[in-house]
Amino acid sequence: MYEADDRRDGFLDPLSMLRDGAAEQVDLGSPEQAAARIKHAAHAAGADLVGIAAYDDRWTYTERFSVQAGGPKPNDLPDGLDQVIVIGQAMDSTLIETAPSALSGAATGMGYSQDAVVLLTVAQYLRNLGYRAVPSMNDTALAVPYAIQAGLGEYGKHGLVITPEFGTSVRFGKIFTDAPLAHDRPISFGVREMCEICNACSKGCPSKAIPDGPPTTERHNRSNLVGVKKWTIDGERCFAYWTRINSDCSICVRVCPFTRDYTRRRNRAWLRLAGSRLRRLALWLDRREGRGARRQSDEWWPDA
Ligand code: SF4
Ligand code: SF4
Repeated sequence: MYEADDRRDGFLDPLSMLRDGAAEQVDLGSPEQAAARIKHAAHAAGADLVGIAAYDDRWTYTERFSVQAGGPKPNDLPDGLDQVIVIGQAMDSTLIETAPSALSGAATGMGYSQDAVVLLTVAQYLRNLGYRAVPSMNDTALAVPYAIQAGLGEYGKHGLVITPEFGTSVRFGKIFTDAPLAHDRPISFGVREMCEICNACSKGCPSKAIPDGPPTTERHNRSNLVGVKKWTIDGERCFAYWTRINSDCSICVRVCPFTRDYTRRRNRAWLRLAGSRLRRLALWLDRREGRGARRQSDEWWPDA
């Protein structure tokens, strides 16, 4: 669906490779039962993380971008889609260790591709049950506040969501739907407190796009939200750097101490330490073990 009919599915417009659904709605039980069923189905379809939040008009873009017109076009999200299913896909952490590189760019690309498959599958499933569903990646609305509202992670100084399962190494998509689903609640596991004593991302950012210091309402430029007190990165500086190196960057993902392989017991123990009063020790251990250092791309490949 790329550029035909002035669409860029997943980046400027919602994913649209969908069929019409059933005329009648299947009863999914209570909102809690319905949410449990849809999450179960989403995991079966390949989702690594699933949470549900209420639709929030603040996060919807006022306009979309028309490639053909070179300017705005309406953001025509239908009314009444009151629930947002947020889906997270983990990125390959060994590829992220090489950031910035073509390999870490592949981790990002694979995250998007897997996200598209899962979002389309779950959205079509909802349609087949008789509900409306609009699957969305970077288009239509911000993903970060929805991922936080859906209880999938906490906000970090680098402007990204940090999850207890994959740290920052995760991508988010969302589905707007009218299926009656119970909502999740935001979680807290010590990220904010860690960001107050850590500056690995702002120190490591080559474009100086991540300021150190407390949350503010300051805006760097028109690409920032108005009226939200938070850590705010200069996304235009960040993206200008990407265009200079002709690749995406992800250094802030690599250096963040929460970016770890949590299938390993010692990293789960580190997460507990990071969420405790001993977070300074956790940070010291992270630096001492050298986690977050850049791995050379040729070290990623097995010996020929
Ligand atoms: S992706 Fe790179 S340039 Fe952008 S904020 Fe992160 S570290 Fe900075
Ligand atoms: S690198 Fe440190 S300051 Fe930046 S988001 Fe991660 S924990 Fe927070």
